[in-house]
Amino acid sequence: MDTVTREKYEVVIGLEVHAQLKTKSKIFAPDSTEFGNEQNTQISPITLGMPGVLPVLNKSVVDMAILTGLALNCKIPNRCKFDRKQYFYPDLPKGYQISQYDEPICIGGCLDIKGKRIGITRAHLEEDAGKLVHAGADGIAGSNYSLVDLNRAGTPLLEIVSEPDMRSSDEAKAYMEELRNILRYIGVCDGNLEEGSMRCDANISVMLKGSKEFGTRAEIKNVNSFKALQRAIEYEIERQIDLVEEGERVVQETRLWDDNLGETRSMRGKEDAHDYRYFPEPDLMPLEISQEWVERIKETMPELPKAKRERYMSLGLSEYDATVIVEQPELAFFFDEVIKLDANVKTSINFLTGEVAAYLKEEKLSIGETKLTPENLVELVNLIEKGTISNNIGKQIIFTMLKEGTSAASIVEKQGLRQISDEGAIKEIVQEVVNSNPEQVASYKAGKVQLLGFFVGQVMKETKGRANPKTVNELLKEFLD
Ligand code: ADP
Ligand code: MG
Repeated sequence: MDTVTREKYEVVIGLEVHAQLKTKSKIFAPDSTEFGNEQNTQISPITLGMPGVLPVLNKSVVDMAILTGLALNCKIPNRCKFDRKQYFYPDLPKGYQISQYDEPICIGGCLDIKGKRIGITRAHLEEDAGKLVHAGADGIAGSNYSLVDLNRAGTPLLEIVSEPDMRSSDEAKAYMEELRNILRYIGVCDGNLEEGSMRCDANISVMLKGSKEFGTRAEIKNVNSFKALQRAIEYEIERQIDLVEEGERVVQETRLWDDNLGETRSMRGKEDAHDYRYFPEPDLMPLEISQEWVERIKETMPELPKAKRERYMSLGLSEYDATVIVEQPELAFFFDEVIKLDANVKTSINFLTGEVAAYLKEEKLSIGETKLTPENLVELVNLIEKGTISNNIGKQIIFTMLKEGTSAASIVEKQGLRQISDEGAIKEIVQEVVNSNPEQVASYKAGKVQLLGFFVGQVMKETKGRANPKTVNELLKEFLD
């Protein structure tokens, strides 16, 4: 699409995010919510909606929903209620889903992304459906039928609905990332898009710039990565602008993102609320939430990502470093311990977001699964700060520390890695290097000053990386200039 056409339009995006709450048992039944067990082994008569059974609300679901609401600056009304949403689908054995319709547990909040505040309309509780395993999947290749696994049915979900406040796919991504950070920090959700513990429906419309009225939206389902979210939005923007440009209309409908084909396709017309025949769930009392209950939960609120980022920046970290570390809660908690031990924050963070993060990714480990302790990292950082070892040596031995838990000092002693800062000793080596490379010396003197790096490299090679780089540079210049 040409940019002139594209620039005529403004994009409007609102996201509905389903977060699976990390409770041990389901929202209305005692069945386990554990993931990955044998199919259909975690279903009680309640989950199946058998006659005569009654749902009982899981209190920790409510605790988690309140905590999330507070983290998202929502109000928690003192009363909410549950409603039945009726629809037929093979993964929904009861024929209805218990959800919340007109009195949700959280209302009217907001979430800040870089430079912008995104409104949160509401967050409501509901139960998840089961999972359909389609032909060809899960080892039933060639079959032409689908199987139902109801282990997931009844898992608690919190659906967080944003205002249509986002104006680009970048903003939508930033919103999702920050929401995921928050959910992870407060410990209510894994936030794993690929595994489906956090799912997102993106509502997208386009309108002419300056228009006061929003266009008709399409709802995109099945986006299960940040990349897919952005691609789906970009695709949908172009599809809708093309339609409008050709004088056609965008239909309000649910569309499915196909990540392989890179396109959305129509799945079904968008239901309106009345299609679901919502009515109050007769088997559950309205839920009253006292101010005391809310206060009690508020007291358990940990430091949120935004506050953490700001604190790190006030310690001297760049915004980039602060953002990178906060996105990895485990590393951030580790870093908090490092800060308490009074280490140089910049050197520490370089290790954590550099070598350590790379190692964890490569080995598919969390930092808790390595042998590195905050104390050991701080010792390493201090050895560098004092000039006992060079930064480069530090970068080499951190891997041994991660794997074996050895202290930095003992590795340095055992392998003789102490930095050589003694001018006399370095001078001898510099002299040697200069003498044995007459051609390079001549070119250097003729103006090829970038050869300095070559000389530094030679000295480092001779000293196995132990020479103090600053002294090496100074001495080399003295000899060459
Ligand atoms: P439903 O539950 O039927 O999907 P809602 O009214 O709850 O409908 O809205 C769902 C989402 O759609 C919200 O996140 C909202 O911000 C967003 N939305 C509403 N109107 C528009 C629009 N014209 N363009 C883009 N998003 C929209
Ligand atoms: Mg919707």
